[in-house]
Amino acid sequence: MINKDYRGDVEPVAASAEDMALINGYSRKELSADQVYTFGILLCDNEIDRDLERFDTDALQELSKLFLGRTGIFDHSMRSDGQTSRIYYTEVRRDPVKKNSLGEQYVSLHAKAYMLRTEKNADLIAEIDGGIKKEASVSCSVAKVRCSVCGADRRSEGCEHIKGRKYGGSVCHSVLCEPTDAYEWSFVAVPAQRAAGVTKSYGALEKVLKSSDKGETVSVSRKDLSAMLEHIAALEPRAQDGINYRRSLENETVRLGMLALPSIGADCIEELVSSLSTKRIEEIRTAFENAVSKKLPIKAQLCAKTEKSDNDEFKI
Ligand SMILES: [Zn+2]
Repeated sequence: MINKDYRGDVEPVAASAEDMALINGYSRKELSADQVYTFGILLCDNEIDRDLERFDTDALQELSKLFLGRTGIFDHSMRSDGQTSRIYYTEVRRDPVKKNSLGEQYVSLHAKAYMLRTEKNADLIAEIDGGIKKEASVSCSVAKVRCSVCGADRRSEGCEHIKGRKYGGSVCHSVLCEPTDAYEWSFVAVPAQRAAGVTKSYGALEKVLKSSDKGETVSVSRKDLSAMLEHIAALEPRAQDGINYRRSLENETVRLGMLALPSIGADCIEELVSSLSTKRIEEIRTAFENAVSKKLPIKAQLCAKTEKSDNDEFKI
């Protein structure tokens, strides 16, 4: 499973008669336009992301089908109960002007979702209407994770190209292909506007700690407690980033380990890597990387020099 975080504006959209027809395809009872709140959101695109991965255009097309009907959660710890929305429309947009960092046409997957205009949802609706930006996090599975240089599937085949390095002038990355499933997606409020309250709540927490050192009992105000809980909620997406980084680091290290020490099984390297701290894995990855580049110096040089004929090396 792959988790992707994208920062896209959530924008309210007016529900047309066509929208209502689509929404009612998902609703148990017939809903009228004034009972629902509809908004648009960017789910993913073909830009290389911070994990050095990108979806190919066919994958976005496939995901547009898979995300239909998926529910979204609003990832606020204190208001997550029952506040769901559902995607009722998806569309792959090809930008006539904008290019991605590879100079290809920028292609993005957009969705429209609806939620019920209930009292519970009123705050959220007001926030979206007020133009507060949200970060959307999507999860999906793909069958193939291809090397951008040679096209090898990184999971089943592996190759000597290293993500983040330049080959023939372009940065090696992974291309996510053939999505097999899309899971829930969630909105996470960008925590900027909460930051002000956080310092204050830390102060309150310190006060409590100091008092308890002295054996005194001190109560925390509801406001401070709620600011702290919000702060924790805001940290959750960052924690997810950390988990994602660790996962991709582990995968990369195992891949390099198999190339550097082919006599050791993948299972063995996986077990070793999973038991280590992130810092140690980074050290081992660098060591494997160096070992691999020493082992394959000729191929690496060829790769660096050739522009579009990288695949030819594998035909020899
Ligand atoms: Zn490759």
